[in-house]
Amino acid sequence: MTVNVSFSAIKKEDFRKGIKSHDDWVNRLLETGDPRILYLLQSRCGYVTSLEQSKKICEAFAGDSQRFESFLRERNILGAFDGLYDKKVEAWKAQYPKNYIAKSKYYYVFGHATQKNETIKIAKFMDKIYELYRKKFKSDEKVAERFFVKVYPNERDFKKTLSAGSGFAFAYYSGAERELVCHLNSPKELLRVLQTLAHEGFHQFLGYYVPNPPIWLNEGMAEYFEGLDPRERLVDSKRTINRSDLQRMKAFLSQGAYVPLKRFIYMSQEEYYSNPSLHYAQGWSLIYFLAYASKSYNKYFQELIQYLKNGYDREPALDATFEKVDFDKMERIWKKFILDM
Ligand SMILES: [Zn+2]
Repeated sequence: MTVNVSFSAIKKEDFRKGIKSHDDWVNRLLETGDPRILYLLQSRCGYVTSLEQSKKICEAFAGDSQRFESFLRERNILGAFDGLYDKKVEAWKAQYPKNYIAKSKYYYVFGHATQKNETIKIAKFMDKIYELYRKKFKSDEKVAERFFVKVYPNERDFKKTLSAGSGFAFAYYSGAERELVCHLNSPKELLRVLQTLAHEGFHQFLGYYVPNPPIWLNEGMAEYFEGLDPRERLVDSKRTINRSDLQRMKAFLSQGAYVPLKRFIYMSQEEYYSNPSLHYAQGWSLIYFLAYASKSYNKYFQELIQYLKNGYDREPALDATFEKVDFDKMERIWKKFILDM
């Protein structure tokens, strides 16, 4: 095993070529010692870490695959998905003896027997939206392991899964548990729940590919998908507009209240969440702008995604992508584009 990763690796590198499952990644990690793989796998298993840290670990184990293997086993990275489904099913059945579990192409949806129809609808919806995530993200790697979604039949049980003080209204994504969690008090809420799942489901999806994405990219794209109308045919197009973000952003822009783009793209998660009203709207507007304003700006969006998919950390990916961009010019065009919508 050799530790060798070049941070200037070309962005076109096909980092995921030939990978079909979690085990394939583990094997490739043991063969190559590529820290980007460890970084990715640790993140999938709920460890918050950095590429630098992963690099140090890989270096420490260079030439000793056996010790590396036991390290991976201790961290539950080796065999991470073994028995996970059974464990979750067992716990769900213990909590809800009357249950219904829908298995779709890409998801397991855990529901209550009295909400069987809704559980199936959620599974079908998630499959469709998953295809859109993949399309937008230009992802060829198929997620070999189905994603988990839990649908609690009432708010009380859902709230018990939350830590004190967190204010999730309908749904959230737990990276550590690798599951999307929501609740459905009554079938009347289904539409709102689907919209929220479109948002949270993107965090689940992206978490599988990218350990530490820029927060505006993660939240901005999640807001984009939340803007879809689940009652209509789901398509990824310019016509998909998150109306509430657009309205807010127009109001902010006309007051001159926004974060300069150069600073915004590097914003930390903590700062982003400190002013959600502005930052969520601005994140959505930047995603929409990069996706649809022009070919030349769309190029940046594609490049950033490519760097992140190839295992770059957040900052080097942003540096490499926006190295040559004229931020003043981009900001002017972005403002006008949004205000004219
Ligand atoms: Zn979010």
